Amino acid sequence: APTDADCDVVVIGAGPGGYTAAFRAADLGLKVILVERYDTLGGVCLNVGCIPSKALLHVGHILDTAEQFKDHGVVFGKPKIELDKLRDWKSSVVGKLTGGLASMAKQRKVETVTGKAEFAGPHELKVDGKDGGRTIKFKHAIIAAGSRPVAPPGMDLDDPRVMDSTGALELEEIPKRLLVVGGGIIGLEMATVYEALGAKVTVVELMDRLMAGADKDILRPFEKRIRARYENIYTGTKVAGMEALKKGIKVTFEGKDAPENDTFDRVLVAVGRRPNGDLVNAEAAGLEVDRGFIKADEQMRTSVPHIFAIGDVIGQPMLAHKATHEGKVAAEVIAGEKSAFDARVIPSVAYTDPEVAWVGLTEEQAKEQGIKVEKGAFPWAASGRALAMGREEGMTKLLFDAETGRVVGGSIVGVSAGDLIGEVALAIEMGSDATDIGLTVHPHPTLSETVCFAAEMAEGTITDLY
Ligand code: FAD
Repeated sequence: APTDADCDVVVIGAGPGGYTAAFRAADLGLKVILVERYDTLGGVCLNVGCIPSKALLHVGHILDTAEQFKDHGVVFGKPKIELDKLRDWKSSVVGKLTGGLASMAKQRKVETVTGKAEFAGPHELKVDGKDGGRTIKFKHAIIAAGSRPVAPPGMDLDDPRVMDSTGALELEEIPKRLLVVGGGIIGLEMATVYEALGAKVTVVELMDRLMAGADKDILRPFEKRIRARYENIYTGTKVAGMEALKKGIKVTFEGKDAPENDTFDRVLVAVGRRPNGDLVNAEAAGLEVDRGFIKADEQMRTSVPHIFAIGDVIGQPMLAHKATHEGKVAAEVIAGEKSAFDARVIPSVAYTDPEVAWVGLTEEQAKEQGIKVEKGAFPWAASGRALAMGREEGMTKLLFDAETGRVVGGSIVGVSAGDLIGEVALAIEMGSDATDIGLTVHPHPTLSETVCFAAEMAEGTITDLY
C-alpha cells in the first residue's frame, strides 16, 4: 500500500452497498472517502428504485383499498390525482433519506466526493467531477458501482414515450394505455402503480410465466387478481420491434396469444439490469470484468486482494438488502475482522398488489435438487385478519426438509407478504423446524399467524381450519 495514501478505504458508488460499507468502515476507525457520480447519496435504491417505487405503490394501495369497499358500505368519490403534488411528495420522501445519508456521512467524517471514478492503477483512482479532476490514492477500495437497466435491440427506441424504470418513476403523465415489457418484479411493480392511477396496462413476458423464481402456487392468486384488472397479459411472447408513431408507440409481438401489433401511449422496458463494472476502468487495477460483472469471494474480495466488490456489481440477486450486508462484510474484513457473507437465504419480495414474497427453496427448486420436502400451506380465507381486511386471497406456504424437519423455504402471497417473509428467513437461518414455529405464540388476529398455522398444517397438529 502507498505510504502517502489519502485514505484507508475509497468506496466507489453511494448506493445501499457503498454507503453501508463507508459508514461501517468509518465506525471501525478507518479513514474513508466515498465517491458518487450523482449529486445525492443513496444510489439506485433511494433515488430511482426501492424507495420512490414504494411511495407510489402505497398511493396505489390507498386508491385500491378505497375502491374495494364500495360494495361494503363505504363509498368514496372518484379520486382526483394531482400529479405535480404526488411527484413532490415522492421526491420529499427520497429527499429525507438521501439528506439523512449526507448528515450521517458528515457525522462519521466520511469525505464524500462527487464525480465519476475510474481506476488509474492498483492504488490510484481518478475522479472526474464538476470542479475538475482529482486523484485519490488509497490502501483499499470497495467497488459498489451498482447496475443499470438494459434496453436490448428493438426496444432501444429513442423516444420519451419509451421509458425505463427511472423514467416510469418520474410519473410525467398517466398514459391511457401502457405496455410493460418484462414480467419480473420491477415491471410488475410499476404496472401495479400505473394501473392503480388509472392506466390500462398490458404486460408482455418472454418466458412462459411471470415473476420467474416465485413458487407457482403462490403466483396463482396474484395472477388471478391482475388478469381481472389488466387489459392483457401475454406470456411466452417476444417484443420483435417498436416504432414511434404520432399517436403512440407501435409494438410488434411474436407469440401465441398476442396480436401481431398494437399501439400504446407509453412503453416501459423492464427486461433486466446490467452491472456497472464496466464504468470504473477496473482493468487498470488488474481486475477482470465480465459483461460488467466483477467477481468477489465470501469476504467480498476480488482477485486483487486489496480491492473489494459488493452489491449489484457482483451479480444476482440484485437486491438492496444483499448489498448492505455485503457492504458491512467488506468494511469489517478491511478493518481486520474475520467476517464473511454467510447468509443461508436472501428473501425476494415483489411489492405488487397482492405482494408476493419468497425465501429459500420453492417446491419446484426442491424437486429439481432432489430434496424431499413436506409442506404446509395455509389459505388466508381461514385467517380472521385477512377476512377483516377483505383480502382473503392470500396464502402462506412453508417447506420442510423431510429428513431433518428443518424449514427450507417459504412463500407468501397477500397483503404485507414482504413484511411477513422476514420471520421465515429468521426461521431458516436458525434451523427451526415446524414445531419451533408452531409452538411460537403469534398474536391474534394478525397475518403473522398464518406462518404459525402453515407450520402446524405441515405437522398435522391442525388439520382442519378453525
Ligand atoms: P446502486 O444502488 O446501483 O448504487 C451504485 C451507485 O454507484 C450509483 O449511485 C451510481 O451512480 C454510482 N456509480 C456507478 N459508477 C460510478 C463511477 N464510476 N463513479 C462514481 N459513482 C459511480 N431492491 C430491493 O431490495 N427492494 C426493492 O424494493 C427494490 N426496488 C427496486 C425498484 C426499482 C425500480 C429498481 C430499478 C431497483 C429496485 N431494487 C430493489 C434493486 C436495488 O435498487 C439495488 O439492488 C440496489 O440499489 C443495489 O445497491 P448497490 O449499492 O449495489 O448499487
